[in-house]
Amino acid sequence: MHCPFCGADDTKVIDSRLVAEGDSVRRRRECQACGERFTTFETAELVMPRVVKSDGTREPFNEDKLRRGLTRALEKRPVSIEEIESAINHIMHQLRSTGEREVPSRDVGEAVMQELRKIDAVAYVRFASVYRDFQDVSEFQDEIRRMKETAKLDRKSGSGDS
Ligand SMILES: [Zn+2]
Repeated sequence: MHCPFCGADDTKVIDSRLVAEGDSVRRRRECQACGERFTTFETAELVMPRVVKSDGTREPFNEDKLRRGLTRALEKRPVSIEEIESAINHIMHQLRSTGEREVPSRDVGEAVMQELRKIDAVAYVRFASVYRDFQDVSEFQDEIRRMKETAKLDRKSGSGDS
């Protein structure tokens, strides 16, 4: 780490602490050459892979878009903001941990479905019906049947007539 004041290489860490939720480390450094002190923030590689759409075009990963998609699927469902944010973190963590620089958009969609499946069956079916673009009604009904077997589908609002 170069000293921002004199450019010397020789700087010493004099204090080090985690900031925020442990995503980065704040370091207080002192230049051994000129004695100036400065602070650095070091963050682990948190770069999201780019998303490759089905038509082959690439776009940057868009967290807001992800949040909108989840929020739409979870509309009027008994799911807290914290749960949604935690789902977003899981999805982003999962995509980052692939170590890939690009991921197909369908992988993003599948990751979203996995999370929704864990937090709300109705939202899962809503999202899946749009995302997977079910070919016909029987396919959709199969999915709902599977959900009923594995989870507690809310029958009142889960008729899936869209
Ligand atoms: Zn210096």
